[in-house]
Amino acid sequence: MSPPDTSFAPSENIAKLKESATIAVSQRAKALKAEGREIIDLGAGEPDFDTPALIRRAAQHALDHGATRYTATEGTLALRTAIAARATVRRGRRETIAPAQVVVSNGSKQSLFNACFCLFGPGDEVLIPTPSWTSYYEMVALSRATAVAVMGDPNDGFRVTPALLTAHATERTRGIMLNTPVNPTGTVYTRSELDALLAIARERGWWVICDEIYLRIAFDGDATSCLDVAESLDRVVIVDGVAKAYAMTGWRIGWTISAAPLAKAMAAFQSHTTFNAAAVSQAGAAAALTLGEPVELVVRAMVEQFRARRDAAMAILAEEPTIRVIPPEGAFYLFIQAPGAGRVSDAGTVFAAQLLEKHNVAVVPGAAFLAPDWIRVAYSTDIDQVKTAMRRIVTAFRAR
Ligand code: GLU
Repeated sequence: MSPPDTSFAPSENIAKLKESATIAVSQRAKALKAEGREIIDLGAGEPDFDTPALIRRAAQHALDHGATRYTATEGTLALRTAIAARATVRRGRRETIAPAQVVVSNGSKQSLFNACFCLFGPGDEVLIPTPSWTSYYEMVALSRATAVAVMGDPNDGFRVTPALLTAHATERTRGIMLNTPVNPTGTVYTRSELDALLAIARERGWWVICDEIYLRIAFDGDATSCLDVAESLDRVVIVDGVAKAYAMTGWRIGWTISAAPLAKAMAAFQSHTTFNAAAVSQAGAAAALTLGEPVELVVRAMVEQFRARRDAAMAILAEEPTIRVIPPEGAFYLFIQAPGAGRVSDAGTVFAAQLLEKHNVAVVPGAAFLAPDWIRVAYSTDIDQVKTAMRRIVTAFRAR
């Protein structure tokens, strides 16, 4: 008798799935650190700050007062009311956002997946301004739709324009994944740029999923949200969360704001996959959104630290004239062209490996964002580490 076949053949659903490179890089950096290597990890974008104490205290209080059970799939009314109230302020006089338009999930990653899975399917094409966060491409593929990368212009912060989008559109185009401020470039779309992108989507009947998780981290005044400019939210899904602005990555709370019928469908979908996000995390997120000025003060202070890190990093990189960086206007990423770009295949991956092996700096190869000539550097870590890492990057450029 032949032995039983224990090899694993993946289902067609995940046959082409690749592990998240952003997460893989930081896990590798952690493993190397555990072996004693002094790695500076600029891989995953995760604020190094602790969650503000007031939020932690509110969650501890909630735990002692019953936040230990299931909640509604779509999230507690308290949290959804807080989210809807903020969104209503941004909508100005256009409309009032109701809690029924909000679905709370385990991180904005799940919110994005819910939206993709409920909106897109076989035969659909989804436009993805590129470079983009690595998981958009996979989420669209897991929904069995086709991700269509729309490469932006590197001389214009890799921004995409209505003309670029229409050049990639077909009669099968069903939606577009927007993101501002952009991961991995730090580009922030202006009000008129966002307005123009929404207008073309509306004209063509495309769904817009807009990931605004970095909205609060912008360095030239407030970044524009789709909530500020969209004529209607009929075909717009706003995705946001507390992870980045409030330093609450581990709490896993994200949400969508959309038209109510889509919200209902996404909640039904979530009711079969994960059900509600953790009750205590929802209490913490509600506190973040409702405690007002004392928490907002901390948020502004964190943003100022990101700005200081960006400025320090840019000043050091400017010492080496061959280094090309996309001017970072928000989020906490630097997108740097790798030496050898245009000459070496997958120059970003080659350079990222060199930085890790020879200079002890972990960064994400641009290939993860479909821009293989580049690397992404997350400066969401202590300023001295950021400065040391930038000096090492300059050294690595000069060594080539
Ligand atoms: N969004 C962050 C990043 O791009 C965290 C890791 C992830 O979820 O990809 O690094």
